[in-house]
Amino acid sequence: MITTNTQNLKQEYDYIIVGQGLAGSCLALQLARRGKSFLVYSDPKGKSASRVAGGLINPVTGRKMVLTWRANELFPYLHKFYREAEKTLNSKFFFEMPIYRPFVSIEEQNEWQGKSTEEHFAPFLKKIFSKEEAENIVEDPFGGLLLDKSGYLDTEAFLEGVQKWLLAGGHLVEQKFALDSINLNEEAVVYRSVKANRIIFCDGVKGSENPYFKEIKYRPVKGEVLKVEIKEQLNKIYNRGVFVMPRNGLNTVGSNYDHNDLSWEPTEKGMEEIESKLKALLKVPYVVKEHKAGVRPSVADRRPVLGPSKLDERLVAFNGLGTKGVSLAPFFSEQLANWLCDGIEPDKEVRIERFFN
Ligand SMILES: Cc1cc2nc3c(=O)[nH]c(=O)nc-3n(C[C@H](O)[C@H](O)[C@H](O)COP(=O)(O)OP(=O)(O)OC[C@H]3O[C@@H](n4cnc5c(N)ncnc54)[C@H](O)[C@@H]3O)c2cc1C
Repeated sequence: MITTNTQNLKQEYDYIIVGQGLAGSCLALQLARRGKSFLVYSDPKGKSASRVAGGLINPVTGRKMVLTWRANELFPYLHKFYREAEKTLNSKFFFEMPIYRPFVSIEEQNEWQGKSTEEHFAPFLKKIFSKEEAENIVEDPFGGLLLDKSGYLDTEAFLEGVQKWLLAGGHLVEQKFALDSINLNEEAVVYRSVKANRIIFCDGVKGSENPYFKEIKYRPVKGEVLKVEIKEQLNKIYNRGVFVMPRNGLNTVGSNYDHNDLSWEPTEKGMEEIESKLKALLKVPYVVKEHKAGVRPSVADRRPVLGPSKLDERLVAFNGLGTKGVSLAPFFSEQLANWLCDGIEPDKEVRIERFFN
């Protein structure tokens, strides 16, 4: 196991970050770009949704196939962000790949022929097929929609790249951060012997137990993913009910949504739910090789949460990335870094103050 010698740490930082999932990793990259000093605490035994995530980057989502929230801002930004991160971390983890969504009916096909002329959809539509196109891989009797600007983040490779980069720069302590060891002095926030101007909590679903942020209305959602072997080599992501995505030699299939069972254990029920949708989509045989589960840090209004605690404004939350963390984390880590470093307020709809009424 990689460990950090805590005795070699310097004692004062601009920021402490708690958690190295997508939120903490993106924020660390943003602060480094701004020349700030920071130290990240990451619990080596902690659960992380980012390590389970499919990593899908999808501009048109949901059963009704609507443009994802703020896609026209989030997507150009995430492409630039992950490309730059690949250079900084000297690692490959961002893969652009079209998504093919078979239509369920002729009505849906007609609807999309109309939508394709709408300006806001245009950057995300590669092609509309009115006949079968999926090379006998999936069921698509009515044709389908081929999406652009889509793809996936190999989240494990991204997090490992960030971890190595943090260690090399002396920015990472692989220890659980103990909330009861925070000392809120007048001049600084002190954690054990480390001083910082602010502590940023990127603690994922553990944030729901954080006493400094009791107001945030968390609605965690469990999800499960499968890794399956398919003889045919897929050259695009297929998505209808579930997504099937070629990733690292296998194919990631996901995901489902469970608001009741919030354990991190994969279940038979989850497997059956995903497999029934997979069978409805896929025409070719597959073999399940892996099955994982995780809990998404979602909040009631399904928007990210950025901003200071009501109890002390030097304690800050960056959470609520929910179901689309890969697309949201780059853009909103920039908004948070702009606020931390330059006092520029984040957008109203993501500010923590919306929970304070
Ligand atoms: C099954 C599943 C599939 C998904 N698929 C997709 C997808 O295809 N596309 C997409 O965009 N999103 C997907 N998501 C959502 C995505 O995973 C989340 O939005 C994102 O990972 C949240 O990142 P985070 O950093 O906020 O949380 P996390 O990744 O959970 O990170 C929080 C980190 O903080 C650490 N931590 C907590 N408390 C402490 C402490 N006291 N001290 C030290 N460390 C601490 C935890 O151990 C963890 O490492 C999926 C999620 C699941 C569960």
